[in-house]
Amino acid sequence: MKQLLFSISISLFSLPLFAQKTIIHCGGLIDGVSEYIQKEKSIIIEDGKILSVKNGYEEALGKESIINLKSSTVMPGLMDMHVHMEHESSPKSYENRFRQNDTDVALQATVYCERTLMAGFTTVRDLGGTGVNVSLQKAIDRGFIKGPRIFTAEKSIATTGGHADPSNGVKKEYMGDPGPKEGVINSPEEARQAVRQRYKNGADCIKITATGGVLSVAKDGQGPQFTVEEVRAVVDAANDYGFVTAAHAHGPEGMKRAVLGGIHSIEHGTKMNEEVMDLMVKHGTYLVPTIMAGKFVAEKALVKGYFPEVIVPKALEIGPLIQETFGKAYKRGVKIAFGTDSGVSAHGQNGKEFFYMVEAGMPPIEAIFSATKYASELMRINDRLGSIEVGKIADIVAVDGNPLENIKLMEDVSFVMKEGVVYKQ
Ligand SMILES: [Zn+2]
Repeated sequence: MKQLLFSISISLFSLPLFAQKTIIHCGGLIDGVSEYIQKEKSIIIEDGKILSVKNGYEEALGKESIINLKSSTVMPGLMDMHVHMEHESSPKSYENRFRQNDTDVALQATVYCERTLMAGFTTVRDLGGTGVNVSLQKAIDRGFIKGPRIFTAEKSIATTGGHADPSNGVKKEYMGDPGPKEGVINSPEEARQAVRQRYKNGADCIKITATGGVLSVAKDGQGPQFTVEEVRAVVDAANDYGFVTAAHAHGPEGMKRAVLGGIHSIEHGTKMNEEVMDLMVKHGTYLVPTIMAGKFVAEKALVKGYFPEVIVPKALEIGPLIQETFGKAYKRGVKIAFGTDSGVSAHGQNGKEFFYMVEAGMPPIEAIFSATKYASELMRINDRLGSIEVGKIADIVAVDGNPLENIKLMEDVSFVMKEGVVYKQ
């Protein structure tokens, strides 16, 4: 009874008493459904949700506040399906692992979170850190810090010595023997255990490293590192919690195994061949390209001392290939969801990826859909996010001018609203 009274008093508080409507006047509207920009529309928002979308500029009849975006193109809040909110790469990245406490990481990351939101990205998927990303998610949800809505994989799952084995490159004395608890597995059974541990730690999606990677202190950057059975065990356990799964992969064999194991997205996809592309089309697997991360590591590999030596040849080989592969995969019909791997490059520059996608042959509207509609479909949140439609959460951003004519405008988002709250105007 006490509980019932409590809930009644709470709901009384949130009733229309305090609900104020906001009307956004949109010069142009990309609603995440239509492929065309609709002119002169009004979005009416109440309690963080979209109440209606109307033709023309609605007038305020009562206490509604009006936001004038008549010279802008308004669109759904952008989504980045591959970020690492905890870090930003620098020549000190490797040393920092031994010097920084979680509190240092967390405080730094609050800045990265805010930059990401101000760049127009209202939802991100954090594909691997140490677990601080779970705390960031909570702090943002509770309103302590400004940032995007985070879906987090917590810690990536790897195999021994594989990309994301936390003890790679460490002297034997300190290497230890990381297992499922630390996100390192060597059998289907351990794979399930690692997923369940991630769930317990607060993850709400899963990431595996299906092949070697560029930035790990290990020689191989592309060979397979999971068996099909291990991938399948990860996906089965993740499905029990309704978690979407992602596989980092540079080489085709690892990608093939990941797709056959039922993974939902392939990250990077660098050396994807036509066989893998066709398999992905057949299974409905998404590619999250992260072109800008490839360009960034290839560029920094030329700076002496930026990366440990073992990383340089991998970065030079793999980095430049991603954009071309993406273009081929898109043309072959592979589903694409937007992702930047920000944290490799600087946070808050996520919008640069749009230009690279368009440069590789994707129409601008498709690139924008990849960061709205398609990303929301990959994450199965399209019932509440990813478009500007009645009943959806009011995540809304805008750029000045027409991004379908100049995609670079996506790098300069001028208006940001998340759940009905304006963060940038
Ligand atoms: Zn990554």
